[in-house]
Amino acid sequence: MSKTYSIAIDGPAGAGKSTIARRLAAELGYYYVDTGAIYRTVAYFLDLWGVSPKDIDGVTRYIDELTVEIEYDEDGKQHMIMNGMDVTDDIRTQEISQKASLVSAHAIVRDMLLDMQRDVAKKHNVVMDGRDIGTVVLPKATVKIFLTADPAVRAKRRCDELNAKGQKADFNKVLQEIQQRDYQDTHREVAPLKMCRDSVKLDTSNLDIDGVVAAMKKIIGEKIPL
Ligand code: C5P
Repeated sequence: MSKTYSIAIDGPAGAGKSTIARRLAAELGYYYVDTGAIYRTVAYFLDLWGVSPKDIDGVTRYIDELTVEIEYDEDGKQHMIMNGMDVTDDIRTQEISQKASLVSAHAIVRDMLLDMQRDVAKKHNVVMDGRDIGTVVLPKATVKIFLTADPAVRAKRRCDELNAKGQKADFNKVLQEIQQRDYQDTHREVAPLKMCRDSVKLDTSNLDIDGVVAAMKKIIGEKIPL
């Protein structure tokens, strides 16, 4: 099998990872793997069964009943399949964001999802985003980038995103939720969000999407012929 390239993008909520990763993947002809969607699917499943994401006994009891699959449609869009059902759109709520952050702290959940993430990268060139891609999932990724931005900038972007979907957003509430998620994701014991030594940090606070993509391509171009 020929060697595959992998671009690992980690960073806190709202740093622009998914927007940028999706665009890069489309431009490079790579698969885009949104690993946050996988944790969201677990959180959504447990929520349907009324299991609190903090309740490790409940999580352990129910997790065996869950199958998670990633599928790609002809446009390259990632779909999340939960026990045979497409839940791609259902997992995109603020409530599921919070629950995903809590449920992803459990080792049993992370262990169960590790191989499926690695398998995609074994078979295809990928742009994969998440919190532990460079540190745990793909420690030998060809390129590792840590994407970040000021919390207030990230909260503003999230509000704009919600407004664009016709949903109301309270800036202070969104900011508080982002900060809470940052705290949980960086302070958990298993696979916490942190920058690895061989990762390049990119602060997107003062950049627009084109600016970030250009900066990323420069970083990527040093390791992969573009
Ligand atoms: O990226 P997204 O906001 O969709 O991720 C939802 C939550 O899933 C994050 O707050 C984080 O707790 C968890 N997650 C994780 N590891 C990843 C991707 C996401 O723990 N690789």
